[in-house]
Amino acid sequence: MPGTDNTNKKQDFWLTVIRSFICRCPRCGQGRLFARYLKPVASCSVCGEALGHIRADDGPAWLTILLVGHILGPLMLAIIPNTTWPDWLSMMVWPLAALALSLMLLPRAKGVFIGLIWRTGGIGAEK
Ligand SMILES: [Zn+2]
Repeated sequence: MPGTDNTNKKQDFWLTVIRSFICRCPRCGQGRLFARYLKPVASCSVCGEALGHIRADDGPAWLTILLVGHILGPLMLAIIPNTTWPDWLSMMVWPLAALALSLMLLPRAKGVFIGLIWRTGGIGAEK
């Protein structure tokens, strides 16, 4: 029965991270991890692994903020002093870049958290 064996604990850490980061099932790497933008599938359509019960809570938001800040912060410090952009342009570009990067990274961060919780065998729920 899928989800009841210990194969997830034997899987390579980075394989789990990579499969989850590209929003694929952490077990088989084939099935989709999300049914919608941030809604995980109940179970993998390929291998049947149960994934819908795993809750990532605030972890993906934390990781997304950490990554966006560490990517855009140095970029802004390198670019802004060397440009002659008007202030209104900077006030448009950087928030939009932060928004776009956040929307791109958030499902991937959630996938990584779900994959790592799955790998540890944690139930991923508060009960
Ligand atoms: Zn699968």
